[in-house]
Amino acid sequence: MTYPTQPTASHFIDGQYVEDTNGPEIPVIYPATGAVIGKVHAATPEIVELALASAKRAQKDWAAMSGTERGRILRRAADIMRERNHVLSVLETWDTGKPLSETTVADATSAADALEYFGGLAGSLTGEHIPLAGGDFVYTSREALGVCVGIGAWNYPTQIAAWKGAPALACGNTMVFKPSEATPLCALKVAEILSEAGAPPGVYNVVQGLGNVGAALVQDPRVAKVSLTGSVPTGRKVYAMAAQNMKHATMELGGKSPLIIFDDADLDSAVSGAILGNFYSTGQVCSNGTRVFVQKGIKDAFLARMAERMGKAVIGDPMDMATTIGPMVSERQLEIVENYIRIGQEEGARLVAGGKRIGNEGFFIEPTLFADVTDDMTIAREEIFGPVLSVLDFDTEEEVMARANATEFGLAAGVFTNDLTRAHRVSAGFEAGTCYINTYNLAPVEAPFGGVKASGVGRENSKEAIKHYSQVKSVYVAMNPCEAPF
Ligand code: NDP
Repeated sequence: MTYPTQPTASHFIDGQYVEDTNGPEIPVIYPATGAVIGKVHAATPEIVELALASAKRAQKDWAAMSGTERGRILRRAADIMRERNHVLSVLETWDTGKPLSETTVADATSAADALEYFGGLAGSLTGEHIPLAGGDFVYTSREALGVCVGIGAWNYPTQIAAWKGAPALACGNTMVFKPSEATPLCALKVAEILSEAGAPPGVYNVVQGLGNVGAALVQDPRVAKVSLTGSVPTGRKVYAMAAQNMKHATMELGGKSPLIIFDDADLDSAVSGAILGNFYSTGQVCSNGTRVFVQKGIKDAFLARMAERMGKAVIGDPMDMATTIGPMVSERQLEIVENYIRIGQEEGARLVAGGKRIGNEGFFIEPTLFADVTDDMTIAREEIFGPVLSVLDFDTEEEVMARANATEFGLAAGVFTNDLTRAHRVSAGFEAGTCYINTYNLAPVEAPFGGVKASGVGRENSKEAIKHYSQVKSVYVAMNPCEAPF
């Protein structure tokens, strides 16, 4: 089987594809069939060195260009991505198994949005003028950090590569990006397109590998910043490594987000929100609202409507535009999800729908609905990262807020209600970085995205991301003779 616009080698360094077959082989597996559709090689120490040296060499000249010039290149890359949306979406589907109906609207398009947005901002990154007594003043300038490392998870390989690369490059940094070993292909196309759009060699590099390659990148003294999208345990390790040398860090980590549905909510809208927050990308979304707290008055109606709507999901060939649910990304992730479903039943949760693996080919599992889930159950506490929705009952707002926040995570949270003041009160009370009122899981580039508590530090997207890819320099200017006490 072949996939479209196949990257021609494992790594993209200094403006070109680079191969080193001495690195351990990483098979590329199509999740819908389990077939090996290609292979890449993990980076050897020589490849890591090539990439870091190239990024370091390129950085000063890249930062010396005007923001408008850098931005033009990013915006050109955005245009190329949009023109090639179909082939890039097909590639994303080969890489992740996500249905083409999703990848066509959520991956290369989201990456293009990031490149366009930060390309637009690049020319407007300025400091400020601070007047002082006696005519003295301070001016500040916003400087690049230097070489940044991006490390990605497997659920949104194109999007993550661009969400990190676009703001980093806009600010005058260069980047070495390491995709997840499970989805190595898409980031290479981001690098190739940036290069085609005019990014000088070394500005955006991609190297393959497992955690050890990520760790080697993070620990290199030439690296000024790391941005990781991954699980909390990996985040703890990478954040600690970055701290050793006071490197800047953005951690976009996991969650177990609450989605609260009050009696007065529009039922169909709330069911839609819970579907978006649990089953999109086969449940492999960090911000998913997997603890669905439903007020007792509408619990039965909610469960009935949800089960009915789940029956309409089209599970199958991801390349068929009618398909709405594809496979899990890997056999391993499928087994993790199956295990959680088993634990859920053993601990007394009521299985309302789904729960079973589908077929022998590929990594498919039914979207799964549990009711009567309690706060202490494993499925209500741990991130599953699969299509498993847990419904928990509640009586009062005060009670549900305490329970919603009783978690180490704080990535996202949502509320469905038609009570205006309650919607804002509840949002204000959420211990979460990204909140939703009467919708769920949208992540437009214009809005900050990220978590609090164990779900991470820093923000991606929006003007906030600029702060995490630049640093402020203050310059004190004296307009009078310098005086000293003696
Ligand atoms: P992992 O934490 O397993 O891996 C994330 C990345 O880190 C991978 O590229 C991995 O390499 C790499 N890595 C692993 N160990 C190290 C190390 N010691 N040093 C440096 N890099 C390392 O996450 P998954 O890929 O399994 O992704 C799922 C997780 O990502 C979930 O918890 C999810 O919630 C989170 N996520 C968060 C998002 C957010 O924006 N907050 C968005 C999407 C996902 P490799 O796997 O190749 O070995």
